Amino acid sequence: MASALSDRLSRLVKTMRGQARITESNVQDMLREVRVALLEADVALPVVREFIARVKEKALGQDVVGSLNPGQALVGVVHKELARTMGEGVADLNLVTQPPAIILMAGLQGAGKTTTTAKLAKHLIERRKKKVLTVSADVYRPAAIEQLKTVTKQAGAEWFPSTGQQKPRDIALAALDHAKRHYFDVLLVDTAGRLAIDEALMAEIRELHALLNPVETLFVVDAMQGQDAVNTAKAFKDALPLTGIVLTKLDGDSRGGAALSVRQITGAPIKFAGVSEKIDGLEVFDAERHAGRVLGMGDIVALVEEVQKNVDLGAAQKLADKVKSGDGFDLNDFLMQISQMKKMGGLSGLMDKLPSAMTAKAGNVDMDRAEKDVRRMEGIIHSMTPLERRKPELIKASRKRRIAAGAGVQVQEVNRLLNQFEQMQGMMKKMKGGGLMKMMKRMGG
Ligand code: GDP
Repeated sequence: MASALSDRLSRLVKTMRGQARITESNVQDMLREVRVALLEADVALPVVREFIARVKEKALGQDVVGSLNPGQALVGVVHKELARTMGEGVADLNLVTQPPAIILMAGLQGAGKTTTTAKLAKHLIERRKKKVLTVSADVYRPAAIEQLKTVTKQAGAEWFPSTGQQKPRDIALAALDHAKRHYFDVLLVDTAGRLAIDEALMAEIRELHALLNPVETLFVVDAMQGQDAVNTAKAFKDALPLTGIVLTKLDGDSRGGAALSVRQITGAPIKFAGVSEKIDGLEVFDAERHAGRVLGMGDIVALVEEVQKNVDLGAAQKLADKVKSGDGFDLNDFLMQISQMKKMGGLSGLMDKLPSAMTAKAGNVDMDRAEKDVRRMEGIIHSMTPLERRKPELIKASRKRRIAAGAGVQVQEVNRLLNQFEQMQGMMKKMKGGGLMKMMKRMGG
């Protein structure tokens, strides 16, 4: 997917290196980047403005944790705020009412209402063990009624017949009566959509709403509409008390900005996401994951969190001091470096979390092998005595044989490890001041 924000933010993260906290002066530049990035993700301008204001308030004065710099810390704030905004109030469908629980589907033509009606029927049958009836009140398009019949069958639900000659309210009342008499738990009412908002359409769905008093009124909106979704959302929100949003065609939308816009404009929670044309292509909306997607940065956010969580900065600092003070870098330190790397989620875990550009560079490394090597190196060092770890120069032929036997490897591998250690030792001396800290900072940037 397009990763404009990813590029922007990694550039930003680099320029922010060396500054200790988010301040009024550096936050301005950073927020400008975030703003452009959100606009590129197709979030509507007023929504972006409001969002940026909130992020600014939260970010200002934040101390930059551990090895994170202000750029990375801001990414964390943006991600959290995105997830919070989009995830607020999310819950599964509310069915707490005298049965049948009525769910009214609203939205423009082509938004995916009919498809979603069937997907929801399947969800309710399979996940919540409900007896589900569907009905179409789209009297303008007989084909839409037939379509609902077909997909309802696929979902394993029951379909209540209607025709283009009836009035929507008569259809609704007949279906409700049928649902009551046959003990259906849920009645899903698909409605007519027009190509654009018009008053007659809104009046009609308002009438249906008043008549049925549904427990859920879901606004179905096409994620690919991007900014245009805002106007549609506004019109439906003004016409109806929406209880939830279904964001369809998320599979085709690389930017994902509609979610934030629609959530903010309607104030209703995004309950589900449509992710394919198929009947099972419906997911409970995951705000965390979607926030990462809007940010368009793979899982750099997850990486940032990982660093905050797992890296023992105290230990890394001690190591840095040790090297600086000339105390020497021994195999114990080498072992610690290896285990720190592992704590950051393992090598392959770490690579997965890096933005695509960086992963591409590392793409030719065989991660499985690298992880195995690391485990083997640990095994070898663990077979050494404390004295050998402190003074690797003592390790001569007979000790090597004993260590190799203890770790279940060939003597050549012990030699290879000692060579790697020497190289690392040389590097540490050159860096004079904590290779690990530097290395980690470089990874974050
Ligand atoms: P309606 O006019 O609102 O009832 O819309 P439809 O249910 O007829 O859907 C319009 C088109 O969008 C159909 O071709 C659907 O297959 C397609 N569609 C609906 N939801 C999704 C989705 O989540 N992903 C994809 N890729 N296509 C979808």
